[in-house]
Amino acid sequence: MYRIGFDIGGTNVAAGIVDESLAVTERITRRFEKQAYPGALAETVAEMTRMLCQQAGLSQPPAAIGVAVPGSIDPAAERVLNAYNLGLHDVPLRAEVGAHFPQIPVFLANDADAAALAELYGGAFRDAKCAVLFTLGTGVGGGVIVGGKLWRGGMGHGVELGHMALDIGGARCTCGMRGCIETRCAATALIHAAREALAEGERGLLFKKTDGDAAKVDAKLVVDCARAGDAGASAIFARFVDALGSAVVSVIHLLDPEVIAIGGGVSLAGEFLFAPLRENVREKCFFSEFARIVPARFGNDAGIVGAAMLERDAKIN
Ligand SMILES: [Zn+2]
Repeated sequence: MYRIGFDIGGTNVAAGIVDESLAVTERITRRFEKQAYPGALAETVAEMTRMLCQQAGLSQPPAAIGVAVPGSIDPAAERVLNAYNLGLHDVPLRAEVGAHFPQIPVFLANDADAAALAELYGGAFRDAKCAVLFTLGTGVGGGVIVGGKLWRGGMGHGVELGHMALDIGGARCTCGMRGCIETRCAATALIHAAREALAEGERGLLFKKTDGDAAKVDAKLVVDCARAGDAGASAIFARFVDALGSAVVSVIHLLDPEVIAIGGGVSLAGEFLFAPLRENVREKCFFSEFARIVPARFGNDAGIVGAAMLERDAKIN
């Protein structure tokens, strides 16, 4: 038996065949195209599903198709309400995909919720009663496990970890509010801070590595320059860790989870991020013993694996 998971991103649509052990055994990626007409995204999903089955030489249909989207989903998990980075607003994506495969159950979820499910079924959250995932990318997503299950919210909206206020009066967020966690803790925040520093005359390693061209800055470069000991990049990275530490400690004070996992590209910095982050949280935290703070296990596959697990989760819960 196998399931197919989709991770719809602002740049790419990634899909994979996920087996019972949660391994991705076959995958394909296609550039994400803004929906040209209603149902276009569902058609892409249908085409990619057929391609995957063909590529893997599978004659049996999948047990389920799951689709993870970076945006808000309605409580019945039928519609994408708002996915700002995809330009999708009030799209009945579950039914649109289902229309292509009447015999296959189709599931829809927020991508960070899906990623948290992947961690619950086979990663950092196994056997946890309460756990929180932060995904640091273009934005900041989050998934919460309470009582050993994905927390879908009292009203069915799930959680928006990235849009809790961290910096009152701070930078404007894509959601319209100021100073959201996302404005300080997304990978994008590192990039913005580095570009600002360059504009203000920073002439260290960031300047050398980019020939002074701010457009060449990415999050990995900031981390690499900080790791190399550059003073400007180190200061930017330290402010990032301090902000992330405050976000993490607020979540610890709210939920007292057993585990906090950090995913997204920035988490690939490894102990260079996690060691100072744990220290920062220790300094701020009310509790002397608090959650283990660890990298998320599934990395770039989290959305695919979690989407594929939606069907198993629906059966159990
Ligand atoms: Zn926001």
